[in-house]
Parts: sequence; structure tokens; C-alpha cells
Amino acid sequence: MKVTNHQGLAKRLVEKLRALGIRDQQVLDVLARTPRHEFMPESLAHQAYENTALPIGNGQTISQPYMVAKMTSLILEQTHGRVLEIGTGSGYQTAILAQLVSHVYSVERISQLQYHAQRRMKRLDLHNISMRHGDGWQGWVSKAPFDGIIVTAAASHVPDALLAQLSPDQGRLVIPVGAQQQELLVIERRGDEFLKRSEGAVRFVPLVQGDLA
Ligand code: SAH
Repeated sequence: MKVTNHQGLAKRLVEKLRALGIRDQQVLDVLARTPRHEFMPESLAHQAYENTALPIGNGQTISQPYMVAKMTSLILEQTHGRVLEIGTGSGYQTAILAQLVSHVYSVERISQLQYHAQRRMKRLDLHNISMRHGDGWQGWVSKAPFDGIIVTAAASHVPDALLAQLSPDQGRLVIPVGAQQQELLVIERRGDEFLKRSEGAVRFVPLVQGDLA
């Protein structure tokens, strides 16, 4: 890798995230030790420890570190159990989660991205991850229910399938919803009831409806 001193750079990034309000020390520790530069094209690796989203090909982006830290904290507030991720992309969010929960199930609609993400998980020696090429609007029925579900692309509306696959016993969904104006929703299931709150405005690529790529 061309990035030298990535541990020092990652530490600095984590200090920035702490200053921006990320409080969960476990999350900060995992971000500090996960090599983000390995999740992107080498030509962009020099920007890997900046707090920005970056292009990863196929019109997609690796999420901003602050957003990864925030969404991970929102999941961990509720569970360290089985978590479904929709939108594997580079696999960065997947790798962060896998170091903090018992198992991550991750669905991605673009096979090329999924293939590279899978290889990264092996290289990083992360084995509590199951990946699937599929449509995230459908969730992952055969592995449900999930203690947590995290969606890393913005949905036009909350997918019913994801609500149905939440554990009735306080399963939690973290999902950006909207088109031009998006907000990050936290939805918690109590049996047949769903409690909803907003964590404010966000910006993600769209959760695509249609054929797999
Ligand atoms: N967490 C990823 C974010 C990638 S961007 C990272 O940090 O790298 C969002 C991802 O969601 C893209 O890879 C995109 O292909 C995927 N996506 C969009 N619509 C989808 C759908 N309907 N089903 C599954 N994945 C989808």
C-alpha cells in the first residue's frame, strides 16, 4: 500500500470524530484500527483518512467516516447481536460492524462490488460475515429476524420487508429515508408497534429499485 503512517492518520481522524460528537469508545477504537485505505481504489488512498465519502466505482461511494461511526453507534446502543446491512459497497461499514457484533449479514445489488468486498473481508481475517448478491428492498428472509438492520443507501420510503425482519423484541432499524431531502430514521420494534425518531438530515446514494447489476 502506498499510504504510509495510516495508523497515525486514522488516530487523527478518530479525534476529529470524537470532537464531532461520537462518544462510543468501542466504535472509535475499531475505526482507529481498521485500514480504510484498503476499501477504495489506490488512486484515492491518500484521502482515505479524511472525513469524506469517496467514489468506489459503479457510481457508488464509501460512506463518510462520521456517518459510519454514527450509524454503528446507533446500532450498538441497542444490540451486539445479529445485524443485517443493506448496501455492502466497499465493505467498510461491514468490517467495522463485524468487529463489534456477533454476526453481520450484508446484501449488495452490484455483483462486482460484492466480489471485492468479500475479498477484503478475507484479507482482514473477518469471518463472522455472510454476504449475498441480492435486492436490499427484500432484506434477507431466510436469516431473519435481526436484532439490528442498517441501510447505507437512501430509501424513498421504509421497506416493509425490513420492518417485518426486525426482531419483535426491540429490533432496531437505522435507515436514511427521502430523495433530495433525506433524514436518518431510527425505528424500534416492540411486537406490532414501531417507534420512530429522526437523527437529522443526511445525504446518501439512493437505494435502487429494479434489477440487480
Ligand atoms: N456501506 C457502504 C456504502 C456503499 S454506498 C460503504 O461504506 O462502502 C450504498 C451501496 O448500496 C452501494 O454499493 C449500492 O450498490 C448499494 N445498493 C443500492 N441499492 C441497493 C439495493 N436495492 N439492494 C442492495 N444494495 C443496494
